[in-house]
Parts: sequence; C-alpha cells; structure tokens
Amino acid sequence: MARTRRPLIAGNWKMNGLRADALALAGELASGMKQAGWNDRELLICPPATLLAAVAEAVKGSGVFVGGQDCHAKASGAHTGDLSAEMLRDAGASHVIVGHSERRTDHRETDAVVRAKAEAAWRAGILPVVCIGETLAEREAGRTLGVLEAQLSGSVPAGATAAKLVVAYEPVWAIGTGKTPTTAEVAAAHAHIRKVLGSLMADAGAVRLLYGGSVKGSNAVELLAAGDVDGALVGGASLKADEFLAIAKAA
Ligand code: PEP
Repeated sequence: MARTRRPLIAGNWKMNGLRADALALAGELASGMKQAGWNDRELLICPPATLLAAVAEAVKGSGVFVGGQDCHAKASGAHTGDLSAEMLRDAGASHVIVGHSERRTDHRETDAVVRAKAEAAWRAGILPVVCIGETLAEREAGRTLGVLEAQLSGSVPAGATAAKLVVAYEPVWAIGTGKTPTTAEVAAAHAHIRKVLGSLMADAGAVRLLYGGSVKGSNAVELLAAGDVDGALVGGASLKADEFLAIAKAA
C-alpha cells in the first residue's frame, strides 16, 4: 500500500531567505532533482511569499513543486497583509501549508480557521498540507492521540479525498528542537491519524501522511521507514540543499 502513495518531501523555509540566497538554494534543488531523475517521489518547497514567484520561475521544468506557507480563507477583500490561496496560485504555488503549529500559536489559529483555509486552497485549485501535532504537555499527559483526533476532525473539511489532502503530523515539541519521537511513536501516531481519517473520508488509505519535526539527512531513513509515513515536512534542514536532497534520497 505504502508505495501507491507517492512520497512527498516538503520544505518549509519559514521566514528565512532573501532573494539571492533563496534563488541559489532553489537552483541547487532544481538541479539536484533533475540529476537524480526522481519520478517516484515529489519535492515541494515553500519559500516566504515575497519569493514565491521568483522561486517558482527558478525551479520551472525541474519537477520541484512550490507552495505557500499559509493563506487567508477568503479569496479577496479588506484583509491587510494577508494573501489568498488564489494569489498564491497566481504566483506559481501548487500547494499551501495550513495550520502549522507556528500559525496556530503565533496567530491563534483554531481548527475551524485551519479548515476554512484548507477549503480556500481547494477553491483556488491548490493542495492543502494540513498540519496537526501535540504539545509536550499534551504528550506527557497521555493525550497525544486524542489531540490528533480532535485536530483532524476540526481541521479536515467535509468532502476531503486523498487527491485533495496531505496531512502532516508534527509534534510541536519536535519542531526545531533536534528532538524526535521514536519510530514506534511516529508509527502509532500515523496509524491513529489514518484510522481517524477513515471516519472522515472514503479513501483515507490513500492519503499521504508526512512526519515533521527535526528531520535531517542523518535521521531521515529511520523516520521515513516508520509505518504509515509517506514523506516529511522539513523546516531547518530544508534551508540546505545537500540536507534536503539527502532527505529526498531517503524517501
Ligand atoms: C517545521 O517547522 O515544520 C519543522 C518540521 O521544522 P524543523 O524541521 O526545523 O523541526
């Protein structure tokens, strides 16, 4: 079953990168992808919105996808500083990350807001990568699976299909910390996520589930081999071409 789900390695550049460095990185990834000739896995990079169009141009023809890091739920209007999914698509995005824990924390995004953003992505014709994950306190209280279930039920819109959804499991305590769950813990979380998705949609078995949280070249083989893991959402290590390509190779 796992190989019918094409692995996706996604890089979230967050608020990093000025034009020159970003274009150099995008160029290295595009040539790495071309040289490797991978057609059994997908690479996605999510640069800051200011660089989306330029990065999309830089990777054109390489097979590397480009996505946004967030979008507003509305298509247009009086929302100063926000960007719609339609705008991201217009700039060259094919995907958008929604509900990243940094958005949930920094901007107090609720599951309902995340769901509306995923619906906005559908409306614009781009693919949402819906992020969920427990905090350290929730894990220590033995609430991990319950938290994931609640976040999924609240964040995944009705009408979801595997072709229209990617889910990223990112334990908050593993993001940017160098700490990772054990592969057994990752597998247990992913199995539960797939089970919950089964109650929300018909083809849950075909949805790609990414693991995110301190993935790097040296731990990618192990983490990507965990049960039900169909790729990775990578933060820090996606800012270095060799690291990101090593993770892609591990897929
Ligand atoms: C992330 O922010 O999505 C992430 C996984 O970050 P890092 O890889 O740096 O832990």
